[in-house]
Amino acid sequence: MNCTEFLANLTDYFDAKTAATLRSELERHMGGCNHCHVTVNTTRQTIEIYRNDELYELPDAIRTQLHQAVLAKCAESKRKKKQTKA
Ligand SMILES: [Zn+2]
Repeated sequence: MNCTEFLANLTDYFDAKTAATLRSELERHMGGCNHCHVTVNTTRQTIEIYRNDELYELPDAIRTQLHQAVLAKCAESKRKKKQTKA
């Protein structure tokens, strides 16, 4: 599983009905990927905020925002690795 696949299944991670196999795959990726780990924490906090307002569906806008943020971070860290000269 890569970051894109992880993000595509991100909302399922918070769904109690999600199969244990998918959940463990998500957890495995998250364990080795700091970006996705941070995304999950942020999303969890967001969901908790919305739950307090009795609105627990993750809005598409926030999902898109998180998706873009993680992809940007991944691209950034790849660039940094290439640029390490000094
Ligand atoms: Zn990732």
